[in-house]
Amino acid sequence: MEHKIVIEGGDGFTVSAEEDTLLRGALRAGIGFPHECSVGGCGGCRFDLVTGEMDTLWAEAPGLSERDRKRGKRLACQSRPRGDCTIRVRCADEYRPAVAPRRLQARLQAKRQLTPDMIELTFCADQPALFLPGQYALLYPPATTGARAYSMSNLSNAGGLWQFVIRRVEGGRGSTALFDHLGIGEALVLDGPYGHAFLRADSRREIVCIAGGSGLAPMVSIARAALAQGATPRLHFFDGARKEADLCAKDILDAIPGTGTQLTYTPVLSAVDGGDEWAGARGFVHAEVERRLPLPLDQYEFYFAGPPPMIEALQTLLMIGHHVPYQQIHFDRFV
Ligand SMILES: Cc1cc2nc3c(=O)[nH]c(=O)nc-3n(C[C@H](O)[C@H](O)[C@H](O)COP(=O)(O)OP(=O)(O)OC[C@H]3O[C@@H](n4cnc5c(N)ncnc54)[C@H](O)[C@@H]3O)c2cc1C
Repeated sequence: MEHKIVIEGGDGFTVSAEEDTLLRGALRAGIGFPHECSVGGCGGCRFDLVTGEMDTLWAEAPGLSERDRKRGKRLACQSRPRGDCTIRVRCADEYRPAVAPRRLQARLQAKRQLTPDMIELTFCADQPALFLPGQYALLYPPATTGARAYSMSNLSNAGGLWQFVIRRVEGGRGSTALFDHLGIGEALVLDGPYGHAFLRADSRREIVCIAGGSGLAPMVSIARAALAQGATPRLHFFDGARKEADLCAKDILDAIPGTGTQLTYTPVLSAVDGGDEWAGARGFVHAEVERRLPLPLDQYEFYFAGPPPMIEALQTLLMIGHHVPYQQIHFDRFV
């Protein structure tokens, strides 16, 4: 069964009554519904319900402030229509999905330990894996409420393979379930792709990829695609981690054809002290980006993924400090 949704003064679309949130129904229909994280964290998909009824999946989702709730705002990623509805939201072409998201059953094919708290998971579905380098999918880990967003580290392929790099979050339900409770051959629901921080292959600028912690996966995917397509004369890859044992990108990047001459890899550690034997860069990764890259910074195309403090530091550095046009800055916030 499907519910009809009308956007006041604009398009209409339908949402599957069984499995879709308002946001996913809109994106599947190719509507440019504003959004960012898709999991209740950022508030990017706020809207007003004008007529009809909707269930709220996660009432405490941090994407809505108390003020938003008092004003009756809702999150499209946490709303499931109960019947036909009219909503108010300002859609924009920039949010139109580049590849229409689909919901698939995917089976865990391989699990590889990368560092003490990071694993690479490879899932296989029986349809082609279609996504752009840098996008993410929603996984439904076993025995967990709600979906979790994870970025793909591989490239679109006809064989149906979806690869992720996942960090264990202390006390986190989704990541713990993926680490400890999903065995090889077991299946879960995978929904995607989503996200706007994908490779702009038509830019001929030098590319800068900046990965903070678990932000590695989308940066690896972008590096793979940019080098394979000859999309950049040079790629600068910055890898921010706490300790040396947390670094695993070098081996992954070394295996990509073309990395020898075109890619510069700079690991940056933030939690080493004077006594540690570490000859590389120390401090926060954004500071090293400014120290290391030949100026001016507005000549590069920037991609970054990682925790909110890193994202904010980079936005300030690039947009305010160095006047890099926002069209050259692409990022996902791992809320
Ligand atoms: C765009 C994006 C891309 C990401 N890519 C990666 C990646 O490549 N690798 C990686 O390791 N991490 C990635 N993350 C972070 C990842 O999605 C998880 O937040 C992280 O793994 C912690 O999840 P957890 O379940 O272990 O922790 P928890 O603290 O249990 O949950 C973390 C998040 O899950 C959501 N959540 C919690 N409870 C509910 C609920 N009841 N209903 C619905 N949602 C709920 C919330 O957004 C919450 O902040 C990404 C996040 C985003 C937004």
